Amino acid sequence: MIVVEQLSKRYADAAAPALQDVSLTVNDGSIFGIIGKSGAGKSTLIRCLNLLERPTTGRILLDGQDLTLLNEQQLRQQRQRIGMIFQNFNLLHARNVSDNIAVPLQIAGIGRDQRKKRVAELLDLVGLNDKARAFPSQLSGGQKQRVGIARALAAHPHYLLSDEATSALDPETTASILALLRDINRQLGLTIVLITHELEVVKSICDSAALLAKGRVLESGPLQQLISAP
Ligand code: ADP
Ligand code: ADP
Repeated sequence: MIVVEQLSKRYADAAAPALQDVSLTVNDGSIFGIIGKSGAGKSTLIRCLNLLERPTTGRILLDGQDLTLLNEQQLRQQRQRIGMIFQNFNLLHARNVSDNIAVPLQIAGIGRDQRKKRVAELLDLVGLNDKARAFPSQLSGGQKQRVGIARALAAHPHYLLSDEATSALDPETTASILALLRDINRQLGLTIVLITHELEVVKSICDSAALLAKGRVLESGPLQQLISAP
């Protein structure tokens, strides 16, 4: 479970805080959406969730452990429990699909045979068996995001954070990536937090959501409740 308590973030040179008194709870096994316009604070919030950004005040509890109290080494350990996917995929262009997926396994010190086995499983999971040796430049946007998802899942994280992961994709490809995320959520029980500026994305796969505006949570709760609100 992820619990965010009264989180605020003010950048050194900023007139207004990027986040103010943000509180929310992400239940295990759920897909939680954070929706808001550009500048609402979504990226800041998602970077705070794995402490890439230090909040000014407030707490972030990951399965009861307050991340804001951890030192760098402890944080690196906690971050291994969090996978991330990005709008621009962030693939390594000089490495093929398999080698991109294996990056977190290499970092974790997993041996070559184990890596090969895990990469094969992941290629299967995301439907890219025939692209194992292709390079990112040879892939469509949807295929690149499948590589991003496989890489994010490689080290068996408990949480997946998605930063506008479908924003660069056309509607059809978006639908197939969202369907994959939902399958992963159901099959692996993986908890997913996704940020987006598109209501359709939230409506199509999220169980719960928070609406962020000017750094504050305007509304949050189960999706049914949010979209039926007057
Ligand atoms: P979103 O992801 O919803 O577009 P951001 O979290 O990127 O929102 O930005 C929230 C606010 O914080 C904006 O006003 C933005 O200009 C500001 N901001 C974001 N990153 C920085 C930074 N590194 N330094 C100063 N201000 C920032
Ligand atoms: P953006 O420019 O899209 O806002 P970020 O500031 O979120 O990018 O991230 C900067 C860089 O840090 C990215 O290129 C990404 O590869 C890396 N990065 C961010 N979050 C993680 C993470 N949880 N694990 C590994 N690398 C990360």
